[in-house]
Order: sequence, then structure tokens, then C-alpha cells
Amino acid sequence: MYQNYKQYLQAELTLIKEVGLFKNERIIISAQGAVIRVADGNEVLNFCANNYLGLSNSPALIEAAKKGLDSHGYGVSSVRFICGTQDIHKQLEASIARFFGTEDTILYAACFDANGGVFEPLLGEEDAVISDALNHASIIDGVRLCKAQRYRYANADMDDLETQLKTAQAHRFRLIVTDGVFSMDGNVAPLDKIYALATKYNALVMVDESHSAGVVGRTGRGVTERYNLRGKIEIITGTLGKAFGGAIGGFTTGKQEIIDLLRQRSRPYLFSNSIPPMVAAAGIKMFEMMDESNELQDKLHRNTAYFVERMKLVGFDIKPTESAICAVMLYDAKLSQEMAARLLDEGIYVTGFYFPVVPKDQARIRVQISAAHKTEHLDKCIAAFTKVGKDLNVLMC
Ligand SMILES: *Cc1c(COP(=O)(O)O)cnc(C)c1O
Repeated sequence: MYQNYKQYLQAELTLIKEVGLFKNERIIISAQGAVIRVADGNEVLNFCANNYLGLSNSPALIEAAKKGLDSHGYGVSSVRFICGTQDIHKQLEASIARFFGTEDTILYAACFDANGGVFEPLLGEEDAVISDALNHASIIDGVRLCKAQRYRYANADMDDLETQLKTAQAHRFRLIVTDGVFSMDGNVAPLDKIYALATKYNALVMVDESHSAGVVGRTGRGVTERYNLRGKIEIITGTLGKAFGGAIGGFTTGKQEIIDLLRQRSRPYLFSNSIPPMVAAAGIKMFEMMDESNELQDKLHRNTAYFVERMKLVGFDIKPTESAICAVMLYDAKLSQEMAARLLDEGIYVTGFYFPVVPKDQARIRVQISAAHKTEHLDKCIAAFTKVGKDLNVLMC
């Protein structure tokens, strides 16, 4: 049997290579950070991590993780409801709820699991999910696992959302679901308008804050802070794997009864292991740091404004962004790959994206800014972009 199957797999892999979509992993041999060492021994500046607050290699978090390792051990070898809940898991859940101004939180191994386990227990056949077309893959998969009817609206298109809401009026309950920040463009979901439509058409709202938590809003509390909607949104999901230290872990936070029911029925919570104690311990420390100071958020916001302003001055076409994601538009797939390769030669690590990850003829390089970047890092990145951009003739002035 395997011989036949192997031939099938080899043909699939060849096909992926032929259309130029084969993904290679680049090996990093240092810790994650603004400066990383890659497998050939070279140091490069990293502009493609979700390390928005620069906490991936934070000495304070490493120390908190070590303490957690000493006090609570390496692993808990259990799902939460059997014997996998330690005091620090409960403390972390409370920290997350405090951060977002919500009533309670439930932890998962990852946000992929939070999204995978949120729809099915909460909605039935007679209900409707109304989802932004550019929502994350984990939301799409989570929606597929539930029996509710599915509606889709064009990205951040409020006219289309209103049309879908009207069509969905006959259902028992309606849930609008959106990413807080869309990962390819860096745009923020218009949550004020979504909330107004939800109120008008009697719907619940869920926001995935994975790319927005720690980033959007003056104190990085996410899109609910940006739009003055703290405590008003029924369901927020998010990750500990991006701005919040980047280790592992996801969560759903929101209304008490919703979290209560998820603890009873959410399958990735009931049938998957608890996060490691050291991750819980470092997470608690991380949210304490967020409460104590706004330094990292301020630095991130300054860095992003600095980068975008100067890149535009040089003549790059940058999508309007309200996050730490800057899409440098090139429109041509091959150009995006060549530009990324040339930038790596210049010591700048970025990724080029093209169809089907972004729409056809919308190829781009995605630059992700971090609070860990120093001004000299940003300047070096802008200089390299300028040099390569001139060589490849992509500057608008
Ligand atoms: C990254 C991301 C996830 C997945 O988070 P993990 O914790 O890494 O599983 C889910 N949703 C969105 C919007 C994301 O950007």
C-alpha cells in the first residue's frame, strides 16, 4: 500500500514545488530577537517575528519561567479538569481577564485551539456565524466544526456585514466574528461599527486579538481599548505566542457564562494537556509588567510610526496600518521573492507573500516592527530597502 501512496505524495510535493509554493524552514541558532543568528552563522536583523513587544527573550520572563520550573515542575501531565490545574493557571486566567477588562478566562494550549473550541459548544443548527472573509485559518476551522449556519462578509466591509445580518435575522442567535488586526494588511477591524451593527441587528460579537493584543490601543489592550469597548464584547480570543512573550498558549476571555460553558464542553480544553507551569508563571509576570509600565507599547508605537513615515518618504507604497504590521506593496509575486532574498543578503530578514496567501497581483513584503528594534536597526532596514528598491526599480519617487 505505502508504495502507491508514496508515489502520490511525491507527485503532490513536486506539484507544490513546480508552482513555487514549497515552504522551506529557515533555521535560527540563537534566541528570538531583533538580532538573530541563522544557520550559516550570519547575524541578521529580524523583521518577520510576531515578537511585537520584544519579550521573546526577556530576562524578566526567563527568570519568572525558571522560578516556575523550580516551584511547579516541568509539566502537569493532565488536562485541566482532571489534575492539570495549578494555582498559577488560575492566576494567569485572572491576569488575562484583568488585562482585557473581561469577566473570566479559559486557557488553551494555543489560540488555534481556543478558536477551534469556541463555536461548537456555544452555537447550534438554529444559529448563525457571520465571519469576516479574511479571518484566521483557526476561526475558519472552528466555524467548520459547529453546526451553525455560515455567513461571510468582505473584509471589514460594513455594508456587506449589514446585508448578511439582515439575511440572518431569522436565526435564534447571531455571532459576528472578526480578527482584531488582519495579518496581511495590518488593518484594524472597525469594531465600533461592528458593535453598532451588532446592537442594531441583535448579534453577539467575537474578536480574535492575536495580532492586536499588546499592540493596538494606547496601552496595548487591543481593539476593545482602541474603540472604547472594554467589557462590551462577549468573546475575545488571543494568544500568548505573539506579543506576550511568544512561548505557547491561547485563551478565550469574556462573559462569565460563556467561559463557564466552555469549561464544560470545549473539546480542545477537555481533551488536551495544560500549558507548562513555567509558561503560566512567566505569563503572570508578563501581565504584571504590562500593568506597571507602558514603556514597551510606547516604544512599539514610536518605532512603527518612524518606520512607516520614512519608508513612505523614500517612495515605498505601504498599506495604511494601525498595527505593527507594515505591508510594503510590490504587486508582483516574483519581485516579492527576489526582493526578500536580496534584503536577506543585506542582513534584513523579511518575508515576501503572494497568491494564494494574498490576493492575485497583491504581492508584498510584510515587515513586522518590534519594541526590541533600536533606531539603528530601523535605519539599517530602511537603508537596505532603499538600496534594493532602487536596484529593482520599485520606488515611486
Ligand atoms: C497567530 C494567530 C492564531 C494562532 O495562535 P497560536 O496561539 O499560535 O495557535 C490565531 N488567530 C489569529 C488571528 C492569529 O494571528
